[in-house]
This record gives sequence, structure tokens and C-alpha cells, in this order.
Amino acid sequence: MMQRLRIGVHGCVQGVGFRPQVYQLAQRYRLTGWVKNTGDGVVIEVQGVQTQAFLSTLRRQPPRLANITDMTVESIVTVEGEADFQIIMSDATPGSAQMPADVAVCEDCLRELFDPDSRFYLYPFINCTHCGPRYSIIHRLPYDRQHTAMAAFPMCDACLTDYRNPHSRRYHAQAIACARCGPQLSLSIEQVARQIQAGQIMALKSLGGYQLIADARQSTVVNRLRHHKQRMDKPFAVMMANMAAVSQVAELDDIKRQQLSSEQRPIVLLQASAPYTTHIAPELNRLGVMLPYTPVHHLLFHYLGDDCVLLVTSANDKGQPLIIDDDQAHLQLHSIADGIVSYNRPIVSRVDDSVVKVIDERAIFIRRARGFVPDPIELSHTVPSVLALGGHLKNTICITRDNEAFVSPHIGDIDNAQTIDVLHDTIERWLNYLAVTPECVACDLHPDFYTTQLARQLGKPTQAVQHHHAHLAAVVAEHQIQQPCLGLILDGYGYGEQGEALGGELLLYQAPTVEHLGCLRPLPLPGGAQAAKEPWRMGMSVLQQLDKLTDVLARYTHQPLAAQVMALLQQQLYCPPSSSAGRLFDAASSLLGVCHVNRYEGQAAMRLESLVTEPVVLTEGWRRTLTQLDVLPLMAHLLHCDSVTGANVFHGTLAAALADWLLLWARQSCVNLVVLAGGCMVNQPLVTALRAHCQQAGLTVLLPERLPPNDGGLCLGQAWLAALKRQ
Ligand SMILES: [Zn+2]
Ligand SMILES: [Zn+2]
Ligand SMILES: [Zn+2]
Repeated sequence: MMQRLRIGVHGCVQGVGFRPQVYQLAQRYRLTGWVKNTGDGVVIEVQGVQTQAFLSTLRRQPPRLANITDMTVESIVTVEGEADFQIIMSDATPGSAQMPADVAVCEDCLRELFDPDSRFYLYPFINCTHCGPRYSIIHRLPYDRQHTAMAAFPMCDACLTDYRNPHSRRYHAQAIACARCGPQLSLSIEQVARQIQAGQIMALKSLGGYQLIADARQSTVVNRLRHHKQRMDKPFAVMMANMAAVSQVAELDDIKRQQLSSEQRPIVLLQASAPYTTHIAPELNRLGVMLPYTPVHHLLFHYLGDDCVLLVTSANDKGQPLIIDDDQAHLQLHSIADGIVSYNRPIVSRVDDSVVKVIDERAIFIRRARGFVPDPIELSHTVPSVLALGGHLKNTICITRDNEAFVSPHIGDIDNAQTIDVLHDTIERWLNYLAVTPECVACDLHPDFYTTQLARQLGKPTQAVQHHHAHLAAVVAEHQIQQPCLGLILDGYGYGEQGEALGGELLLYQAPTVEHLGCLRPLPLPGGAQAAKEPWRMGMSVLQQLDKLTDVLARYTHQPLAAQVMALLQQQLYCPPSSSAGRLFDAASSLLGVCHVNRYEGQAAMRLESLVTEPVVLTEGWRRTLTQLDVLPLMAHLLHCDSVTGANVFHGTLAAALADWLLLWARQSCVNLVVLAGGCMVNQPLVTALRAHCQQAGLTVLLPERLPPNDGGLCLGQAWLAALKRQ
């Protein structure tokens, strides 16, 4: 029977080859009608005898990159005299459509890239309906070429023909470009490759910002880059040509392979051994590795050879945002790089590389950005719209719209004017793109954070959310947890409700409130914030708590300020107490002689983690009450250990102690669901052992999966709690 259907499709359905796929299906089922993008997604009208078959195929086989959240179907009056099916002009009305994320270059495009007969042969900006830049080049929705950075590049005849040809892979590919009509690099890749080979540092404009690229195998150039970037110890990431090259230096299982080769192409932390790892990731057993994700990267390996290993790092001054502007690149990078290579298409939105680590066969985010933003996180129900400004470090922002939460890419540490500019820009751009007016603004409880002050200036009701409550709530929101749960948050620093310094907290979530149950035994932080930079101070703090101050001077002769810090500890001057788990890791690292000064955030803990071979439990290593877990006996034991034994005992015992404490509370509260979050939950031996203990005891354990457990995920928890309060 002849029928006409009007179908509304919502979700991530633009920039993913949706309309071309609808066109093909309409052809297959001999239907007439049209499809168009709107501010809300895609609208389709189909008419013919096989409309139901069309509908069920579309439901079963949507385009690979699409994410349909909702589909409405209504039967409408048939139209006389319609001859064919067409893709028609988009509606520019703002609505609820979603921006697609950037996608690594696909296999089909790679084949053409290296096919001498293809008109895209060696063209560095080749893309198609299924791959290429999206989020980083889109100004606004609907996703049409004129709303992207490609607007300045009129298509040549060949590209226009492909664009209009329903049988082409580039039918309605908005970013279609070729050497005749598309963006151009300022220097040939062959030349760039030659300079890299000669030991030069090249600044290269990539997908989401400028990157510094050098030959990772040449220690002299790596050291030169470290000096230029004032980044002496911090690990760099490397890019390898293909999976075969990676498998030569690292053990790969299915999940690691899947992460490495996913269309998001994150940096994956791998236990790798190769001669260059010592200067790329000093004193660490993990190396950040990624596979090429743009045609430019593939072309580099084409000229450099598959055995080349590239150091790839964001091109910016220490602590500053990723550079996307060409003029700024020339101003800031000429002292760091030997050459700057640009192209004549602007980057609309900066987006860093994403970083993941695989723990217990699951990928955990260290940083969530390219490839994953702006994909929303689905919430359990529709909530009032909230803008959440995140924390001070690893800042991201979150905006809720209906039953979805949109979390921005990594913005950075809010401690300099440039990053603050990026924060403001992101807020404005995202509110615009999502077309919502938030009812309230959520922020951290810390009165001095820039984000807290900004929240107050935005002219809307504000909701301050305690740091660790937000960590817990982020996991609750992500996993759509509906029942009460315990939250163990292990972290560096969060401002408590009485202004105290917290970071090792046990909480109970019962919507919409979070109750504080207990904390790690607080330790004095000699010199306050300085103690976070200098783990040796925490080592001394532990010795003082153990009443072993006489040990101090013997152990810390290498620290010129040891005597002064000892005096502070004795007089309890400038020694605020803190339950921070991060500082406990610092203390252990220093007492074992592993790391006394953090040259980058988390260094002491990361180096300690790298030493773990097989965690060991010291059964008499802890004491606990309901409200406090005290691991001082464990710390006393470390004084007699070598570094590897100590690392094993520290991680094994801490995990067992935390599980024991959790189990006590699980029995007490009749709650058997446990959430683990906070920056320490990227520690593999700790998480693996803690999860195993909890599961053995019958508890269910959840960790963040869509956002990092660190402060990069904080904003979602702020938004969730603020939204619940407003309801
Ligand atoms: Zn492609
Ligand atoms: Zn062209
Ligand atoms: Zn935190």
C-alpha cells in the first residue's frame, strides 16, 4: 500500500553520512521524498510501497558513526507527482542537534591517498563522509560546509561532481577537498620529513592545534626539546606507523589494539620497552603511544619509513593552552621549533589528544578530548539545564540539555590568563552551539577558585558543590545509578565544607544528597601547598607522626630545608592537616627514596607505581574505625624496605586496607554498590587490587568510563548534583 512517512531523527546524525545513507535506502526501496538536516537533527519524508522496510533497515543499520537517541514516525498525506528522492537544503533553526566528533582518516581514504591513479594521491587533507575533521572545524549547526572552516574553499568541478553523486563515497561530504580546491600545507611533507630526519624539531599544525614533532629515537633532539619546553622529566607521547610497529615494543591485548586503532585514536599508555623509552618517559614503565590519525601523519611515515618513531606533543608554552592561531604559533614557537608548518584553514575549536590507560581490560580516560568531544553523556532523566564550571586543575565544563550532559574538551589548569580566555571562549561557544539558557551555574566550594568567582558573576543562581561529592556524582550520573552507593574518592586536594584540605574520603550517595562517612588519617602538610610539589616534606611529615624525628635528618640530608621543615612540624606551624591520598603516595615515594620532588604533577606516585611487580598485603599495616582509616603502620614498615618491595607492599596493603574499610561500611549501611573516583584511580595496581578485594567480598564496583576519574570529570558531578537540587 502506498504510504508517506515523516521521520524525525535525533542524536548525533549530522556529519556522519546520514543523509547519503538515507538516500541510498530510499533508492533501494524505490521511495520518493526528501531528507534534510535541521537544528534538531534530520527530517525525512518517504513515500512508496516499501516505507516500512525502509524504516526497519534504517533502525537496524544506521551509519557507523551515527548515534540515534530518538526517532519519531508519523504517517502523513501522500504527495502527488513527486518523481524522485532528494537531499534538500538544511533548516538553519537552532535546536537540539549534536555536533559530531573528529574522526581518524578511514581505510578507503588511505588507499586513495597512496594510489597514484587517484586524484587525491598524496593530498594531505583527503577525507570522506566517514572520516576527517568535524568538531574542530564546525562553527555552528546544521553541519553544512558554509558553517565550517571549509566555507572559504569553493569546490572544484571534480569535487562538486563527487559531492552531488549519490554513488560516490563523498556524496554530501561537507569537508570534501582535493589538491585543486582544498587547504594547502605551507611546506611539502617530504621536506618536513627530511628536516625531522636531520634531527630538527618541527611545529606542525594538526587537527586540533599545533604539535611539536621530532624523531623520538634521537636522544639529542629529545633533550633539546625538553630544554626548550622546560619539561625535563615529564613523559612525552610517541606516534608509531602501525600496529606491527607498536607490537614490537609493547605487549598488546585485544582491548589495547582496539583502543589504538579506534576511530578516536587516543594516546594509549602501554608497558613498552625500547631503547628510546628512557629519554621519552624517564623512570616510568609506561609509554604513551598513538597511531597516525590524520593523512598528514600517514604521509610523514610514508617518507620516514615504518620503523620511525615520532615524538608528538602539543606545541605550547608550559601550562598554556594548545596553540591554534597561526600568528600566535609564529610568535610563540620560533624559539622552540626549528620550523613551523601551517595550512590555510583555520582551526575553529582547539582539541588536545585524548589519553587512555587500560586497567582490568577497560579503558580509563586520563584526558578526554579529540575524538570523544562533543559526544554527550546520557543521563537517567531530563534535568534542568545547568552550566558547571569544573575545578581549578585539568578544567573542563559541562552543560546539561534535557537528559544529556555535554562535557567540553580538556581546557587546562586555570592559573594563567590564556587558559582563562579559553575557558570563557568555551563557555560562550558551547552555550551557543547547544542553544540552551542554563537555569543555574555550578562550581566548586573553594571560594578562591577563578571558576567560583566567575560563577557568581554570571547573573544566575549558583550552586557550590564540594569537590569529592562532585567526583562521586560524576560516576553516578554517567552510570545512571538509581540506588544508594558508597563512594571512595582518592585525590590530591579538595576544599572541604569547613575549609579543610581533603583528598581521601569515604562518602554515601543517596539522591540528592552526599553524606561524609570518613577519611584517611590526616597528615600535616609542612608548608601547605608546597608539600604537594615536594614529596620529601610528606616523608618528613610521616616520620614526625611516627615519632621518628631523629630519623629525619639522617634520611633528608640531601634537602637543604630539612631542618627548617622539621622545626615547622615540631611547632605545628604552617602545617595544615590533610586527608589527601595523593600526599600519602608522595610520602611513600619519598620514604622509599624513589622521588623527593615532583617536577610534574603526580610524578612521585607514577614512578612508585612503575616499580610495582606483584602487590603484597601487610596484614598488620592498618587500623580503622568507622570514620578513619590509618595506614601509619604500613608507612613505618616502608622504612625498612627497598624501593621495589616497598612499592609492592604499599600498593597491596593500601588496596586491602581500603577494601576492608569499604566492607565495614557496606555492612553498616547495607549498601553493596561502590564507586571509585579521584585522580589516584588511574593507578593500575591500586585499582586492580581494590576492585578484586571488593568483588571477592560481594561488592559491585563502578569506575568512571566516559570521563576521567581525575578533575577532568568533576564538572559532570557538579552539574548532576546542582540539577537534582533544582528539581
Ligand atoms: Zn574517509
Ligand atoms: Zn577539489
Ligand atoms: Zn579531584
